[in-house]
Amino acid sequence: MSVLDLVNYGNPILRKKCNQVTNFPQLSDLIDDMFDTMYEEEGIGLAANQVGIDLNLFIIDISHTDDDEYPRIFINGEITSSRGESVFSEGCLSIPKVALEVTRPEVILFKYQDIHEEWYEEEFDGLLARAIQHEIDHLNGVLIIDLVSEMQRLKVNKEVKKIKNDSIIKFKRQPISKGFVL
Ligand SMILES: [Zn+2]
Repeated sequence: MSVLDLVNYGNPILRKKCNQVTNFPQLSDLIDDMFDTMYEEEGIGLAANQVGIDLNLFIIDISHTDDDEYPRIFINGEITSSRGESVFSEGCLSIPKVALEVTRPEVILFKYQDIHEEWYEEEFDGLLARAIQHEIDHLNGVLIIDLVSEMQRLKVNKEVKKIKNDSIIKFKRQPISKGFVL
């Protein structure tokens, strides 16, 4: 399996609503590569469009903070309800080295499919709820910089602009489609 290239802020795939997954049998190599990539980059979650793939699919592994946890795969996910509120410092593999205090609902009801096309609706809270919201935002084209106050955004403006400019140059040189036909 292999580590995939991350796409950074500035790449248009991070700003679009991703397509629903319909062809499940073709996902397993992509998912293996996404886990390799996430562990290599020391992330706890990764959405498909962060590696240039336009599909409603993300992975999460928070087992380093919780012994009962395990690597999770969420496909065609959708938050159906939410409640409460919490504030937490979030980073993002697509906006390297930028951390922002993001306010989100504390508890979510989340509907999704697994790799076998089985549907689930489950309640999540804590770090898992937060990671799911971060990743599902990615798949809807939303980034953490959209969720914070103008004041917080100004503090990281310089770094974010640099990431965007570097990404646009890279994106122009190297088209995002990299041989995944899904
Ligand atoms: Zn992110």
